[in-house]
Amino acid sequence: MRRIFSYMAVAAMSAIAFGANAQEGTLVVKRGQVDTVYKAKHQVLGLAAPQAEVVVNGKAVKAYKTGSWGVELELTAGDNPIEVKSGNESKSFNVYYSKTRKPLTEEQKAAAKAKQAAEEEKAKFYPTSVKVKSKKYSYLNYGAGTDRLGGAKINYLSEGIEMYADAENANLYRVRLSQNRYAYIPKSQVDVVGKANEGYDFMQENVVLSGSSTAYNMGSYDRVSLGIGGKKPYIVKEYTDPHKIVVDVYGVQCNSNWLTHKSGLKSVDNIDVESIDSDVTRFTIYLKTKSSWGFSANYSGNSLNIDIKHVPEKLYLKNLTIGIDAGHGGPQSNGAVGLSGLKEKDMNLDMAYKLKAILEKQGAKVVLTREEDEGMSIRERQDKMIEKKADIVISIHCNAGGSPLSTLGTSTYYRYNVYKPLAEDILGYLLTMEDVKNFGMVGNFNFSLSAITEFPCVLVETLFISSLWEEEQLADPAFRQAMMENVAKGLNDYIKECRILEGQAKK
Ligand SMILES: [Zn+2]
Repeated sequence: MRRIFSYMAVAAMSAIAFGANAQEGTLVVKRGQVDTVYKAKHQVLGLAAPQAEVVVNGKAVKAYKTGSWGVELELTAGDNPIEVKSGNESKSFNVYYSKTRKPLTEEQKAAAKAKQAAEEEKAKFYPTSVKVKSKKYSYLNYGAGTDRLGGAKINYLSEGIEMYADAENANLYRVRLSQNRYAYIPKSQVDVVGKANEGYDFMQENVVLSGSSTAYNMGSYDRVSLGIGGKKPYIVKEYTDPHKIVVDVYGVQCNSNWLTHKSGLKSVDNIDVESIDSDVTRFTIYLKTKSSWGFSANYSGNSLNIDIKHVPEKLYLKNLTIGIDAGHGGPQSNGAVGLSGLKEKDMNLDMAYKLKAILEKQGAKVVLTREEDEGMSIRERQDKMIEKKADIVISIHCNAGGSPLSTLGTSTYYRYNVYKPLAEDILGYLLTMEDVKNFGMVGNFNFSLSAITEFPCVLVETLFISSLWEEEQLADPAFRQAMMENVAKGLNDYIKECRILEGQAKK
């Protein structure tokens, strides 16, 4: 009863305040106007006229150029009347802070229990016995874990690889790669092509012998054609120091007696083969190069072709094609939206064009994934960058999350260690900017565009659009221009480093 009474009092106060308000509607409370909270720290955020003076419970609060303002209040147990004023406008409401949570009703308890049971049911594996076949852009997962961008990926697979699944849950098949190794693959990425034979023996039915392999120069890349007795799943990884690509092919017994190295190889130094389990064959491709320009792994018949791109002959920006990817787009994907309504997709596209102009002025050929405010799947972006022969791809996004009042900073992300220097160079330049804080550099990042190995790729999360302060910076075209100039400097440094590493220039 006491609480109902206080709400009525607040309602009466609001009515008086609105009555005196000449410009009703500029001051808006967007977050924090709630009945009951269980934490003493309580954020109230909203909009006012750009850079207006906003006062919350007698305390002046900064309003940014976007009009966004926000404050964190320390509540006391019980009623907390909150009054926000700006110019002639004011908003009043009450937030009740309870230190103890209201006990759930029996109905709520039952609903929560049912929801948890349904989730557990979806995650639970049960025995199955089917043969599945990979599709384009199928990928293997290490385990059944999930996070925002999906479980940790091993790598993409070539199309048409058959595997036995012996367990499944709602979303995944557990596939057997070899006698001793399992992986997981999303159900949406495979076709079921049959049932496993009853009482099937993995070694008898599933293991083939590897054959001879050949490496040759195909013009713009070296091809290592690995003879496999069938289309078998593989795990492929590139390493630095020494620079090599290791391909483990599962369900394959080593029987490779011919490893032919044709003359004129530019990327491949030598191929080695060994057996790392009774049914797993490892091919190690040692590389002559120090920098990486991408590779692909695809079956042609029963040959697994590893195509390793040559280092561009004259490593200068003007000789390269740079792919720029503006994240999100179209009516279905705004990306993150700032408090003032600033949309990530619009900032990304604008920065992509700014970066394009800078790089073109420096002589580079630039290709964009999306060119306007249109929806584009990651697959379409990948295909376009491969088709346009991008030498390096930079994906532009804005970050979001955490507290709008304190979570901020710029960050870069890479998937493969070989591209860490690129992420490092770009981040380094972004951090030379005044007021730009470091959110960090993230490796092995589960972002699909950088998960393919066909091109070097780095993701730039420019700033947090969810931060009130960084939203103001992002809203400023001159600031966005400066950010992209620093991205370009980082890219140029990276290319120069590669040029030195490859012996094309002196230090
Ligand atoms: Zn994004």
